[in-house]
Amino acid sequence: MAFSWSLAKALDLDEPIPQAVALRAAVDPIFLRDLIEERPANLATSEVAARAVETSLPKWAPAPTLGLLGAATMALTRWALIGFRPVPEAQVQKRKAACQACPELRPPGQHLIHRLVGAGQSQVCGLCACAIDKKANLPTETCPAPSDDPAVNRWGEPRDPAAPWAGR
Ligand code: SF4
Repeated sequence: MAFSWSLAKALDLDEPIPQAVALRAAVDPIFLRDLIEERPANLATSEVAARAVETSLPKWAPAPTLGLLGAATMALTRWALIGFRPVPEAQVQKRKAACQACPELRPPGQHLIHRLVGAGQSQVCGLCACAIDKKANLPTETCPAPSDDPAVNRWGEPRDPAAPWAGR
């Protein structure tokens, strides 16, 4: 089943999800959480859906796929399991400062999918391709890179040995 119909079913909507909304949901767990929490009766009146930039999507934009959704869904699920707890602001700022000093940081707009969903203004982690502005605000996400101290990552937080890049 196409992702847009899976998302429509999850939201109890009988209408297909517009491509821009589906793409944004597939790469932005915060947007996906807001959409689920809003539970719009229809997308035409949804304030969250209006944040998606449908009019700027070119005709050749990729169709959202279940594979594309996978990372966002996993991030959202991990976050939901702790009740959408926010990251303390001081910790968000510490994470962002570490990213700013990191050689893996990439400038905004390098990833097509981020540009397409209107998140192209955020800098991106070169290791995991996450938008830093989103990643730093999710308590269940982690920096994948080791620091000089093998016990902590470059955010200064305990390393996740299950992270795909943990061995680097
Ligand atoms: S998340 Fe970690 S590896 Fe990625 S840019 Fe930030 S500090 Fe660097």
